[in-house]
Amino acid sequence: MKFGGTSVEDANAFRGVAKVVAVAADLIPVVVVSAISGFTNALLKSVERAVRGDARNATRGLEPEFIRHLSIGRELLNADANTRFEQAVATARVEIRQLHKIITAHPVTTPPLQDEIVAYGEHLSSQLLAAVLREHGVAARQVDARRCVKTDENYGNAVPLSETDQAARNEIEPLVKAGKIPVLGGFIGSTATGVTTTLGRGGSDYTAALVGAALNAREIQIWTDVSGVLTADPRVVENARTIPILSYQEAAELAYFGAKVLHPKTIQPAVDKNIPVRVCNSRAAKEAGTLIVAQSEGAPQTIKAIAHKNGITVVQITSARMLGAYGFLRKLFEVFDQHQTAVDVVTTSEVSVSLSIDDASNLEDLRADLGVLGSVEIEKDRTIISVVGEGLRNTPGIAAKVFSVIDDINVSMISVGASSVNLTFMVDEAHASETIRRLHQVCFEESIGSGRKSSSATSQLSGARSTGPIGRTARRSSRG
Ligand code: ADP
Ligand code: ASP
Ligand code: MG
Repeated sequence: MKFGGTSVEDANAFRGVAKVVAVAADLIPVVVVSAISGFTNALLKSVERAVRGDARNATRGLEPEFIRHLSIGRELLNADANTRFEQAVATARVEIRQLHKIITAHPVTTPPLQDEIVAYGEHLSSQLLAAVLREHGVAARQVDARRCVKTDENYGNAVPLSETDQAARNEIEPLVKAGKIPVLGGFIGSTATGVTTTLGRGGSDYTAALVGAALNAREIQIWTDVSGVLTADPRVVENARTIPILSYQEAAELAYFGAKVLHPKTIQPAVDKNIPVRVCNSRAAKEAGTLIVAQSEGAPQTIKAIAHKNGITVVQITSARMLGAYGFLRKLFEVFDQHQTAVDVVTTSEVSVSLSIDDASNLEDLRADLGVLGSVEIEKDRTIISVVGEGLRNTPGIAAKVFSVIDDINVSMISVGASSVNLTFMVDEAHASETIRRLHQVCFEESIGSGRKSSSATSQLSGARSTGPIGRTARRSSRG
């Protein structure tokens, strides 16, 4: 059971989590928790300040966050437990102060020390949650997640190693056998030599999946602030609604193309062990949420959701040398490899290739090296929009319907068929919200009376609404 930052943002939220875990206690859960909301951002900001040479204010700026922790402890813990937690916060403050000083004096130490500092978010939240659970009669024990998740040395975005399976079992199984409920911080891990690492922003979901897979859990549950995976980002589409069932592939595509509710790497460990993933609302625990399962038969064939990812840069390389030549694409991708830049979407014509990248931090170096291969054009502030659903495999006419409702918006880099459950294209960021709202309307809301013409394919598109009794369908399914 993984609880995200907003599920532990204040004392009330902690109480809610404690109730959810207490109800599930007989099922022997393992609990994974993120830093309290906003704390990871504050810790990262403190590192930036330290790098700029302002170690004192780097630490001072964290004071409101320490106070938030202390007030949650005071409200929810008995006197002894609270004293222990106050000591933990005081120790964190002193240790973070030392680390800020080292960074200011030696900025080259930043990558590993940044992870060391950021990890305090999850150290403190897991200690606090374990203590709060004990107050609620749950036999919880904090576990150091760094001893469970073993990674490479790619600080800030570390890749878990296969040793994680055994390490997690060694740490967690003895506790479970002794009737305890382990509570570990998400997002953090350590290298073979024990140096702290982190798995990338939002990585607690991934920790839950890694640990769930290592322990052969019956289910991996992601508890968050919305009732499951929704048909679109609720910050863009007000009436986005819960998708009862998704296939692993659909969920992976949605996560990869921007549905923040799941970290993009969450699905793979579940796929490896065929473990269902459930996304539920920690503020409305009775709602069924979304169940993510292996077989697409379990996930009826329709359009399920629209995902989007802002801040995309498109790089276009044009060269007549491409015509009929072999080896050109290899050289092109080698440049991206050299500059450690991941490519999301690719489209090509006879003489040009367009590629989209999320992380443009090495853009100028990329531009220089790509310039050797052809002329390079760069477009910033683009948005990738992905329409996802198993129905794309075999429902004719979906692309036509999708594009007909946005026929006044400039669309590029259309890609369909590569994954067979995903239709992807690019628009200007300025038009993204409007595009998503219109697509949501035609795919999921047509009966609400949009005023736009409804179409024959709309009923196929909107099938996500008719997948049956949500709660029961979702609950009935279990592993194997
Ligand atoms: P947590 O702190 O629990 O990990 P996140 O903020 O990382 O929570 O993810 C949950 C948020 O993801 C939601 O509040 C919502 O704003 C956003 N989100 C974006 N796309 C979707 C989607 N398709 N379905 C559900 N939530 C989405
Ligand atoms: N606390 C980390 C973050 O904010 C990890 C997570 O929340 O999943 O990115
Ligand atoms: Mg998250």
